Amino acid sequence: MDVARVSIVGGGIIGLWTMYNLTKQGIKTTLFEQFPYPHSRGSSHGQSRFGHHFIGDREDVRMIAKAFEMWDQFQAECGVEIAKKVGVLKVFDMHEKKGSIDFHECLERTEHDTLAFDIIPGEEIQDHFPGLEIDSKHKALYDKNGIMLKPEIILEALRVLCLWKLCKENGGQILEDEEVLSVTPIDDNKVEIKTNKSTYFSRSAVLACGAYTNKFLRGLGLELPLTVMKANVYYWRDKSQSMCYSLANNFPAIIYPTYYSAPSYEYPGLMKLCHNAIVSLDLEKENQSNTDAIEDKRLEEFKTEISEHFCDIDVDGPEITERCMFTRTPDWGFIIDYHPKHRNIIIGAGFSGHGFYPSPVVGKILGQMSLSQEPAYSLEPFSIRRFDKST
Ligand SMILES: Cc1cc2nc3c(=O)[nH]c(=O)nc-3n(C[C@H](O)[C@H](O)[C@H](O)COP(=O)(O)OP(=O)(O)OC[C@H]3O[C@@H](n4cnc5c(N)ncnc54)[C@H](O)[C@@H]3O)c2cc1C
Repeated sequence: MDVARVSIVGGGIIGLWTMYNLTKQGIKTTLFEQFPYPHSRGSSHGQSRFGHHFIGDREDVRMIAKAFEMWDQFQAECGVEIAKKVGVLKVFDMHEKKGSIDFHECLERTEHDTLAFDIIPGEEIQDHFPGLEIDSKHKALYDKNGIMLKPEIILEALRVLCLWKLCKENGGQILEDEEVLSVTPIDDNKVEIKTNKSTYFSRSAVLACGAYTNKFLRGLGLELPLTVMKANVYYWRDKSQSMCYSLANNFPAIIYPTYYSAPSYEYPGLMKLCHNAIVSLDLEKENQSNTDAIEDKRLEEFKTEISEHFCDIDVDGPEITERCMFTRTPDWGFIIDYHPKHRNIIIGAGFSGHGFYPSPVVGKILGQMSLSQEPAYSLEPFSIRRFDKST
């Protein structure tokens, strides 16, 4: 039996940033991760994640600015390169609103005047980025101050900093390969954590369980509107002589209504290019062969779309396919809230798609909530309550 001020369930990027923010303040914290590190059974592993300044319909401009500032500070603190600069091109269909936000809303919400994006008409995109052909029905915003984060290095750096420095100075621990079986609120100031190895107590608990959130929350009488999806990450060969789709050639990361892509970097000569039509996954069912068949059919359609936009990508591929899990809410926004009945149980969920680059600030907020401190941002857009009508 061990007593910490805060327990964190889940050691993906959200749980680790929560741990980092708390231990940095001298708060004794225990983090539980069910699998031994490193593992690829969550959403945070992989070689690249992108960050940009386009604001969705829920984020706050200040939150995103703070996240970028915290990544810079973290890089300085850990002394290794955790990110590279990369341009990010967000392409909008000007005839049809696809996604939660259109071109004008994005410009307005992002406070364009202070951030200076370039606005590029669809038919001019190939002048800026050879090898990319988009038609005049589209318009793009280009954020030249985007970043490509390196998840594997970041997860390791966070763990090492938390474990070897902050926990040594301030107490606390990361317990990997230890599955939390139940979290039971005893009263407003005490929570019991039962794992497959022992029982622990703390004053509050942060649940950052990614795709496993509902499986786990059921024991707390709550089911959130989360869909877990299987995401295949595809890498395709660049046939061009000049390697036009590479980070070295300043090719941007692209957010298109039906797909996203990243310039070749982690596998030289191979560009990451993935469609958004990912299929739902039932984590509790063993046989997922039907989802594979849906995915194979979608992949064939995707090849046509690729050859229309990327003339130098070899669509005989993909050469490499990696697997990942997505967890999303009906509006693709995050859930950052207290358990409706127990204020010392804090929930962070539904981050897939775009949860990596805001994670430093999300971890800070979850940490503040676990200490009953008022976060500096409105949490209304991230409330569980917003789904009341639809659930
Ligand atoms: C293919 C892909 C591309 C993406 N691209 C981007 C991008 O470009 N930019 C961006 O910002 N975001 C991106 N994202 C989203 C981002 O990676 C996720 O939002 C983020 O990693 C979610 O982190 P998490 O900590 O919530 O979940 P996870 O990383 O899944 O962590 C949850 C952890 O909780 C553990 N856990 C669960 N239950 C228990 C239990 N009972 N006991 C102990 N441990 C438990 C799990 O094992 C897991 O390690 C992408 C995601 C994917 C899948």
